[in-house]
Amino acid sequence: MSLQHDARRAEIVVDLAAVRHNVRRLAAEVGPDVALMVVVKADAYGHGLLPVARAAREAGAPWLGVATLDEALALRAGGDTGRLLAWLTVPGEDWAPAVAADVDVTAYTTGELDDLVDAVARAGRPARLQLKIDTGLNRGGCTPADWPALVAAAREGERAGHWRVTGIWSHLAVADEPEHPANDAQEQVFREAVETAEAAGLDPEVRHLANSAGALLRPSARFDLVRAGLASYGLDPAPGRTPDIGLRPAMTATATVAMTKRLVPGDGVSYGHTWVAEQPVTVGLLPVGYADGVPRHAGNTAHVGVAGVRRPVRGRVCMDQLVVELAGPGEEPAVGPGERVVLFGSAPDPTAQDWAEACGTISYEIVSRIGGRFARRWTDSDPETDTDSDPEEQP
Ligand SMILES: *Cc1c(COP(=O)(O)O)cnc(C)c1O
Repeated sequence: MSLQHDARRAEIVVDLAAVRHNVRRLAAEVGPDVALMVVVKADAYGHGLLPVARAAREAGAPWLGVATLDEALALRAGGDTGRLLAWLTVPGEDWAPAVAADVDVTAYTTGELDDLVDAVARAGRPARLQLKIDTGLNRGGCTPADWPALVAAAREGERAGHWRVTGIWSHLAVADEPEHPANDAQEQVFREAVETAEAAGLDPEVRHLANSAGALLRPSARFDLVRAGLASYGLDPAPGRTPDIGLRPAMTATATVAMTKRLVPGDGVSYGHTWVAEQPVTVGLLPVGYADGVPRHAGNTAHVGVAGVRRPVRGRVCMDQLVVELAGPGEEPAVGPGERVVLFGSAPDPTAQDWAEACGTISYEIVSRIGGRFARRWTDSDPETDTDSDPEEQP
């Protein structure tokens, strides 16, 4: 049984029109010869797996991407029937349900291919298989040294009818620094790996390397397909470097002021009294904290939006609550108990990127961790008049 959370207290609102808009913008940016995969792992970076998947498909995304087989199966159970890639398994996982559900699975090792033969037999149908080469991230994927053996085994399994190798792919380490020499090196290793695979007789539909930053900043890294996660949610994967293509943040996190109080100089706020009022100010209590994914590092650093004005978090963020300064000396607070403030959303309110900078992290972590006791709701700011929508595409 899952607990219901009262939206009057705190709420995450996800605008699906923003997701559709971003997907269309990204598709336009990479052009008609490059397929777009919208990455919806980790509950669509906190935005909601199924609603985001539907919005991405409505906007024409031919591919979705997830990390785990469980995520892929959840998409199928939710009715998604399009092309879908998963890429993260551990030894002993059962791949048969994903094969049966027509998911493109990813292998890194010949041992996984052995498991896949067995899964295919139980699923009763051939798999769609993609192979991942580690071109220098040194995270997942087949090492260049092991690659010839992997492609040979993959080709053998393809001849035997166990699967069709649909893709060859890799992942960039420094895509957010497009001039970094590691990008050239990875592209070069990737091209060689593709050549090796083709020489072994493989004929993949898609070769892909780029995430959001690679897609936007390195046209040479686009190949046949780009895997865009963060940018699909309207956030900037390489702050300060990405060209402005008009992406819109899809998520807004709000909380309701539980109570307000006046402080006098010398009053300390929250655990440890790490902030002490020097002037008479009005503070407000917000009923969310680090158990809800509000970073504890936001204490004394992040800001919230109060009627369009940025106001600072005062003192430490607690497990369930935090305190913000609603009004400075001589000011009357613009919102009172029962009224909402914006933790992060779209400018002029603070953004997830602003929170990331305040907390020493990246916006990926801000949106994917927020949750806990926030209620979550999906809106559509533009259901009819989404002018860049093609009515033919609607299901
Ligand atoms: C998460 C992930 C992506 C998406 O990255 P963004 O930077 O959010 O675009 C792409 N590819 C792989 C393998 C990933 O794990």
